[in-house]
Order: sequence, then C-alpha cells, then structure tokens
Amino acid sequence: MSARNVVVLGGGLAGLGFARHFPGSRMFEAEAEPGGYARSREFAGAWFDQGAHICHSQGAAWLEAVCAGTPLHEMAKSVVLNHKAGRWFAYPVQNHLAELAPAERDAALKDFLAAQEKYRGRTPGNYEEWCRFQYGDFLLENFYRLYTAKYWHVPMAELATDWLGGRLLPSQVENIIAGAQGHQEEKQAVFRKFRYPRCGGFFGLVAHLYGGVDLRLNKRAVQVDAGRRRVSFADGTEEGYDALVSTIPLPQLAAMVPDAPADVREAAARLRALRHYCVNFVVDRENLGPANWFYVYDPEIEVSRVSFPFSLSGEESGRTAVQAEIFVPGDARPGGESLRNKAVADLVRLLDFPESAVVAAEIRTFPVSYVISDLDRAAAVRHVRGWLRGRGIETAGLFGNWEYIWSDRAYESGCALAEAMGGGA
Ligand SMILES: Cc1cc2nc3c(=O)[nH]c(=O)nc-3n(C[C@H](O)[C@H](O)[C@H](O)COP(=O)(O)OP(=O)(O)OC[C@H]3O[C@@H](n4cnc5c(N)ncnc54)[C@H](O)[C@@H]3O)c2cc1C
Repeated sequence: MSARNVVVLGGGLAGLGFARHFPGSRMFEAEAEPGGYARSREFAGAWFDQGAHICHSQGAAWLEAVCAGTPLHEMAKSVVLNHKAGRWFAYPVQNHLAELAPAERDAALKDFLAAQEKYRGRTPGNYEEWCRFQYGDFLLENFYRLYTAKYWHVPMAELATDWLGGRLLPSQVENIIAGAQGHQEEKQAVFRKFRYPRCGGFFGLVAHLYGGVDLRLNKRAVQVDAGRRRVSFADGTEEGYDALVSTIPLPQLAAMVPDAPADVREAAARLRALRHYCVNFVVDRENLGPANWFYVYDPEIEVSRVSFPFSLSGEESGRTAVQAEIFVPGDARPGGESLRNKAVADLVRLLDFPESAVVAAEIRTFPVSYVISDLDRAAAVRHVRGWLRGRGIETAGLFGNWEYIWSDRAYESGCALAEAMGGGA
C-alpha cells in the first residue's frame, strides 16, 4: 500500500481502474451508486443503460477482468440497421448500397468511385472532408451530414477526425462495390461481435470489480484548494490529499479551482459536450424487428438511435424493451414530457405497434454526454490539463481527459495513471 494520501474524484470506470491499481487510494463519488456512465437501472421489468452500451472490446486484460464476473450473452453477429424516409437498410450505408432505391444506389456508387480518384492521397482537415474523401458527395450530403446535424449539432467542418477510430469504417472499395451489386450476407459493421451481461444491464459487467475498493458515495466535490491540497464536498466535509486524481468532467473541475487563471477558464469553457435523453419503454409485444439497434436519419424525428435491451442480454420475456436516444446541444433544454411522448409516437409508427401496447415509459436526462471532438478540443484539453498538473491534479477517463473513449479505455486510463504514479498493484 502506498504511503501517499491519494483522493480520486468520481466512481466511474476510470476511477475504478485507478483505485484497483493504487491500493490505499480513496474514491469519492457524487451519486448514491457507483458506475458513472456505465450504470444501469431497472425499469418496468427491464434493465436500461445510459444509452446503448455493449462490450465490443478486443482488449485481453479488460475482457479477462469483466468476463469473470457475470454470465454473458455473446453475439457473433450484431444486426444493425438504418432508417430513412420509410426505408430500412443495413448499417453502414456505404456497404449496403443495393438496399437503397436504385437511383440513390447509382448516384452513391458513382460519387464514391469518383472520390476514390479525386481525393486519393489527400489528408482530410476535418470530418466533412474525411467523409467526402472516403465516401463521396452523395453519401456525405444524403446520409452523413443529416446524421451529424441530428446527433452532434455541429457543422461537419468544425469536427476533427480524432474520434473516428473504431467507430466509422474507412472505405473498403471491394466491399462497397459488392454491396452495390447485391445483398451482402456478411455485414461490414464496426460492431459485429459483442458481449453483454445476461442480467443487470451493462453495469453487470463491472459490478464485481468494485469489491475491495475504498468508495465513498454521495460525496459531490464542490471546490479544490490546490494550494492547501484540500477538497470540499457538498455535504460540508473536507478531505486533505497528497495527490488528487479527477475523473469528473474537466470543465467542472477547472471551475472548482478558485485560482485557475483566465486563460485556463477560457480554454475549459471551449470544451463542449452533448446533452443526452433516453426514452425507455416496454412494449407488450414479443418481437418488434430483427435489429439489436438502429439509427434514424429522418430530420423530423428527434430520436437518433434505438436499441432493444432484451436482444442484447438474450432475455426472452414475451415483451420488448426499447431505448430511444436523443442528443441535443449541451445548453439546450427541451421539454422532457413532450420529447418522451413524441419519441414513443414516432417509434409506434416506425416499428408498427399499437401505442396501447406500451406498458410503461420514462425519460431520463444525462446533462454531460458525448464529448464533442471539435477542432478546438485537443489544444484546449492540453492547456487545462497542463495547468492542473502543475497544481498537483491529474485527470483520467472519458470526462477527466475529455476524449471520446469506450469503457475499456476509460478503465485502462485509470490503471495507466495509477501505474505512472507508482501505485504498483
Ligand atoms: C451515450 C454513450 C454510449 C456509450 N456506449 C458505450 C458502449 O457501447 N461501449 C463501451 O464500451 N463504452 C461506451 N460508452 C463509453 C463509456 O460509458 C465510458 O467510457 C465510461 O463509462 C466512462 O467512465 P469514466 O469513469 O471516464 O467517466 P464517468 O463514468 O462519467 O465517471 C465519472 C464519475 O464522476 C462522478 N462525478 C461527477 N461530478 C462529480 C463531483 N463533483 N464529485 C464527485 N463525483 C463526481 C459521476 O457521477 C461519475 O460517476 C458510451 C458513452 C456514452 C456517453
């Protein structure tokens, strides 16, 4: 055990990875339960996550840690669909052009092939160029721009490309040509194979890892006095530390340190994230379709992603659990009830079931969700983290480092920091 008094802010996966590899550290979590964004919650007889969460990690250490804890449902082939203007087609659209209307298919293929010639060897400077160079103008304008507007609420030219790895496929010319000629049996989606707990939602993967760590719940940090090395909490208590590790959202942390200079505050204020709504409901119908999840391109429908939790866990209950996700800009405040009702009504139409079959529906809000990887992000994050480090504060995780990473990498970033700080467990 280290003799150093290390305080960790946040009991999500990054905090967990740190605490498990730095014996003696103490983790302080604002909420009444651990898990952060990986938390799951039971509603109307189904487990719902904070937005669709699956384990598609290839990391051996992570898989070894999580697979031991709970029985898993393993899916060798996920079924992922897209919906636009009454038409269903497989994800990702560029690999399944034959499923579009013939005129769209031909235009998409023509522009795709032209882009391969025209932009060969060019490095894209932003997400718009990346899509144009990879997929051509037709797919850019009719699919990727539409979806980006709904999901990221940021012009494509303002987005960087550092978040794409493992999420969007670079074009695979033979696959795209084959997919335009006929139905592809083998789907070319990024998330083809995945694992999911049979019970307890995504959190079931990691619940057992919290055993043995020193975790204090209902402890919301409100101020950090970096000079005196003390953290104050909303309940009026204080803790001293030798080293502070933060996994809470970086802009919030910067605002909590009273002596942060104006340039650091300004850099922190440039960091943007989406606000996230999940409309969770259960339908008294056995099967609402073949997909594990699907994406909605239609601009008049606020929902952008829909998943079916029972299809992830492999549960057969005679009912269907549905989660519809809506992302809005961080400062938007749409009315929750109308958002929920509209989402249910839209899905009644899309999935063709009577609204009377909805057993129960709720809407949940997550104020800080996906980090927006705009062109300012990387430099602003470096600036804020560099200043914090000079004041003895290290950060880790999705929100601590303000980078768009999956659960395995959030956990690993905590582990790596513990190792760098000499945790040695
Ligand atoms: C919509 C969405 C879908 C995702 N889907 C997947 C997926 O399919 N597969 C996958 O592997 N990963 C997925 N991820 C990523 C995964 O959820 C995260 O990488 C991971 O959970 C982040 O862990 P973290 O510890 O870095 O952050 P968090 O989980 O946010 O942990 C930070 C903790 O700090 C606490 N906190 C905040 N403020 C304070 C304060 N002032 N004082 C004390 N505590 C505080 C919070 O309550 C939280 O518990 C998804 C993420 C999102 C947003």
